[in-house]
Amino acid sequence: MSKKSFSLAQKIIPGGVDSPVRAFKGVGGTPFFVDRGKGSHIWDVDGNKYIDYVLSWGPLILGHAHPRIVSIVKETTESGTSFGAPTVLETSLAELVQNSFPSMELIRFVNSGTEATMSSIRLARGFTKRDMILKFDGCYHGHSDGLLVKTGSGGATFSVPDSEGVPTDYARNTFSLPYNDIDAVEELFAIHGEKIACIIIEPVAGNMGLIVPDQVFLETLRSIATNYGALLIFDEVMTGFRVAKGGAQELFGIKPDLTTLGKVIGGGLPVAAYGGKKEIMEKVAPLGGVYQAGTLSGNPLAMSAGIETIKVMNELDIPQILSSKVEYLIEGLLDLSRINNIPMSATCCGSMFGFYFQEGTVKNFTEAMRSDLKLYSHFFHGMLNEGVAFAPSQFEVGFMSVSHDKSDLDFTLNAASKVMKRIG
Ligand SMILES: *Cc1c(COP(=O)(O)O)cnc(C)c1O
Repeated sequence: MSKKSFSLAQKIIPGGVDSPVRAFKGVGGTPFFVDRGKGSHIWDVDGNKYIDYVLSWGPLILGHAHPRIVSIVKETTESGTSFGAPTVLETSLAELVQNSFPSMELIRFVNSGTEATMSSIRLARGFTKRDMILKFDGCYHGHSDGLLVKTGSGGATFSVPDSEGVPTDYARNTFSLPYNDIDAVEELFAIHGEKIACIIIEPVAGNMGLIVPDQVFLETLRSIATNYGALLIFDEVMTGFRVAKGGAQELFGIKPDLTTLGKVIGGGLPVAAYGGKKEIMEKVAPLGGVYQAGTLSGNPLAMSAGIETIKVMNELDIPQILSSKVEYLIEGLLDLSRINNIPMSATCCGSMFGFYFQEGTVKNFTEAMRSDLKLYSHFFHGMLNEGVAFAPSQFEVGFMSVSHDKSDLDFTLNAASKVMKRIG
């Protein structure tokens, strides 16, 4: 059924998918089509059941079809699905977000992470009256033109660091430097510092596998930005509510000027946000001259799913619970790799984890690219056969949910034991 569905989809949708990584190009083979999900599991249209560590690429921190989310979305739907006029739900979600992210003094909701980063860069440019931006190799900030330079995620998988269709003049305003490289940043600012509007970074990188940066690297970015009058933007679309409740800015104790969020704050519906210092955010229309708008922005269904997700998280000590599950899984995988003589390095951060098929710690994109992709592909397909779904690319991370229990983790390790014996 998946094969048939895929071939029908390919006739009418480019590559049969609405987002490139879903096509399995990074690991080969045919993607499975999903029928439904519940808790830690998904079922494909052929009736196969998988433990899911992709979780819609991060948003589903409570797992699939969590009863509280299902019921609030149903209830909200009864009163209408969209108005294009303000509702109190937007204020409620903004307050909940701000509780965890006090640096976001004003918050604007949008529909995707791409929109959030794109808008925050427009704002940084409008506020500083400068054009250049700095990003880091292997960081993915969505697919807006100026940010499609040396991206991770799908870009890494396909080895297409720049997209066709992005004007060279446009990409020329984007500098990209190696992650974790303080000297490179200092050198760049010494020459171009007065022209740079902002530094945008994934403060824990999750789109080139998982890389936790050096504390001093992030601290240096903060001080350089301040010294040169550039803004520091933390793209916490993935890390928000995942590496800690208050994201990487809480984990590292560093206050960015602007923050972008997405994924978890929509509880599986399309929600993202950007926000930060009041004086900067007051530049956004209708208060200021930086234009940004959206027909479905702040959509009531999406807002209510986000509100309920954060409420459930606030009732439990979720970051703690999830990080101990992640550690258990990763330690188990590392043990198995040693037993089977498979080179593997792994990292966890909150409810995210990543592993590379190579020895030693990975500090940047160049090192991440040395991972044995063929081995990853064998591992991925082997695990899928055993009923465990990891991301169909070496350069994506794994996510844990509240619904994953000890038996899921042990099932996963048991499967990995069989698969590693075979591929080792
Ligand atoms: C997923 C992601 C984005 C893009 O979000 P979309 O909702 O897919 O547009 C941006 N930045 C980071 C760090 C992400 O992980």
